Amino acid sequence: MRTVIIAGNWKMNTTPADAGELAREIARRTRIDGVVRILCPPFVCLDVVRAALASPEVASPAGSGVWVGAQNVHHALAGAYTGEIAAPMLVGLADWVIVGHSERRRDAGETDAQIAAKLANAWNAGIRPILCVGEVLADREAGQAEAVVQGQVRGALAGASIPSAATTSSGGPDGAAGLPWLTIAYEPVWAIGTGRNARGSDAAAMAAAIRRVLDDLGIESSTIPILYGGSVTSANIDEFLAEPAIDGALVGGASLKVDEMAGIVARAGLTAQARAAVRHGASDAPRP
Ligand code: PEP
Repeated sequence: MRTVIIAGNWKMNTTPADAGELAREIARRTRIDGVVRILCPPFVCLDVVRAALASPEVASPAGSGVWVGAQNVHHALAGAYTGEIAAPMLVGLADWVIVGHSERRRDAGETDAQIAAKLANAWNAGIRPILCVGEVLADREAGQAEAVVQGQVRGALAGASIPSAATTSSGGPDGAAGLPWLTIAYEPVWAIGTGRNARGSDAAAMAAAIRRVLDDLGIESSTIPILYGGSVTSANIDEFLAEPAIDGALVGGASLKVDEMAGIVARAGLTAQARAAVRHGASDAPRP
């Protein structure tokens, strides 16, 4: 069974003065079994967020803590790249990292080759990547959405050496046994930060298209969580979680709001319970 994941991308928001308290408050309000929660603050807030989440008042029982992720990692390991952060620098600060976010593809011109190198560097550092893919509106209107997204998946993952499920990394709330070494976030660019979310059925169709490419590449697609991202809120998350092909969400704007995160993770918790119950053959599971 795939992990249900809710990851918050804080983007260029919060400061070291306020990020710890926000992280603590989100952790307190989202203690739900069965959901992997990840907060991705700006680089300069990683340390304070990690410390806040390790404090006894929010550190949860086994396996249910909140993980820390970075929002980017450089494609090189060291060198003359002013202002950049390499994977080895993140060790001890982040257990997850967002790779290939559309804002970086757009603003920093990230290429498939660079994104592939970022993934490899993250894995070598023991950091779990969330690979973002998604089409722009013109691609969708031209009927090219699937082809574009499948091309991004191929570009990032052809020839990739993904660590085996059994490989462990240190750090995080309670060790990382069983957590995926690759998560993919389908984020249609036209839905990011616009208040205009995709339909659940479209996200599910794209998840199926992504899994076809993974299988083609020899990556066991049934083990790879696929998240939806793009204007997710507590009011629309159910539409995505109702799709068995979708395993959670990458949340931007709403992840800065404690009440929103509480609502989103609560819904994800119901989904996780329902999926676990189906797996165990129970019939009286709560429906998502
Ligand atoms: C994102 O940044 O990945 C994102 C999905 O943003 P938002 O939820 O604000 O659309």
